[in-house]
Amino acid sequence: TLKKRTVAHLLRNQLRDSLQKTLSTIGAVGDALGRSVFVVGGFVRDLLLRQENFDVDIVVEGDGIAFAEEYARRYDCRVRAHKKFATAVLIFADGFKVDVASARTEYYLEPGALPTVENASIKLDLYRRDFTINTLAIALNGPHFGELLDYFGGQNDLRGKAIRVLHNLSFVEDPTRMFRAIRFEQRLGFQMGRHTVHLLKSAVRMGFLDKISGPRVFNELVLIFRESDPLPAMRRLDELGLLAFIHPTLSVRHLSDGTFAAAKQAVDWYELLYTGERCQRWKVFFLCLLSDLDHGEVQQIVQRLAMPPQCEEFFGSERDAATRILNQIEWRSMQSYRWRDSDIHALLKDLPVEALLYGMAITEHEEARRTISHFITHLRHVKCLLRGHDLQSLGLAPGPIYREIFDALLDVRLDGQVVTREDELQFVTNRYVEKIEEKPSR
Ligand code: ATP
Repeated sequence: TLKKRTVAHLLRNQLRDSLQKTLSTIGAVGDALGRSVFVVGGFVRDLLLRQENFDVDIVVEGDGIAFAEEYARRYDCRVRAHKKFATAVLIFADGFKVDVASARTEYYLEPGALPTVENASIKLDLYRRDFTINTLAIALNGPHFGELLDYFGGQNDLRGKAIRVLHNLSFVEDPTRMFRAIRFEQRLGFQMGRHTVHLLKSAVRMGFLDKISGPRVFNELVLIFRESDPLPAMRRLDELGLLAFIHPTLSVRHLSDGTFAAAKQAVDWYELLYTGERCQRWKVFFLCLLSDLDHGEVQQIVQRLAMPPQCEEFFGSERDAATRILNQIEWRSMQSYRWRDSDIHALLKDLPVEALLYGMAITEHEEARRTISHFITHLRHVKCLLRGHDLQSLGLAPGPIYREIFDALLDVRLDGQVVTREDELQFVTNRYVEKIEEKPSR
């Protein structure tokens, strides 16, 4: 077991000063209230792995909400309490958040259902967790500050790079843990222990995945797609039968390693170029996963996962439009068709950026990929210079004609036929002379 000194050393070296101070003040409030407090879970796991993690989860033996309120009275922060779950969030002036929970135990009346909850000791609280590597806790109370609690062999499994459940019914009680196991394996470069794989396979075989609601499965998939390289996890989901359970045709076998790598490259490229405009990278990967499926199959998946309406539209009509448009672009690039920028713009302007990046990833035509990237970098944000009041002062009466004029102006700008404001005014005067009612007031 790691010595108290070693953990204290890690806390000092790995964490920034303000976070160290927060942890010790949390311990001090625990002392004042006569309650034991711990930092637990992923935070401790990542601390021992020397990886940064800003999700601080605190567990109090006793009333977590009362603890958080007392902490906020003494130190400068706000509290948001969730009575139903006996949890609270401390929100500091700089926006930093700390989750506080009451130590509790959970039992499951039915597989896949949400658990019944009761107050408990820290040990029972740790026992309800998913994997041994997530059961570590560090005591924060003054006299014990820095003591590591390792009841279930978490450190051993961190050293052995193993993902292990705590007991045989773990996947049955909460089948979402199957997805979590695979996500942690790939993220940390760990492997499930043999017995854990065996338990997972039995739970799949016995159909326990059917007990999880659509939104919970969807959430797990999104979390996997948010990891930096989701393909290995997808392969593992496929191999263990988890994709097929979502839909019998869902598989990554049709995908080459290149597709996900290209998706990752496209997303990284975009996020590097447009730091202010993050895209939802998980959608790009999800589209790759669905790339071989027809409209009906995707609809069944959308239903199975009970996707929210906005995602339903994205994976429904917007995906269909993207596929159609990509086909056109590929076809035209095979014909060596000479694009005008206004054509490219007209074709791509309504597609969400995630669909554009998917197009870049999936196409095998270099020319098509270049066309899309040219749109993203050079055409997407082009606007004409004139505004409504400019048209009015040219003597044009407001109406639907304005939309037409702005579209025409955008086209000639995209094609380089106008550059300055004067050019635009000239263009409108020439093209729409018959619509001009009065003498320009300019
Ligand atoms: P991440 O870095 O992905 O946030 P994490 O380990 O912090 O990983 P969370 O999903 O934030 O994961 O969960 C916090 C803690 O709650 C975990 O460390 C784990 O102990 C526990 N936990 C989360 N989900 C489950 C689950 N389905 N079953 C049991 N314990 C869980």
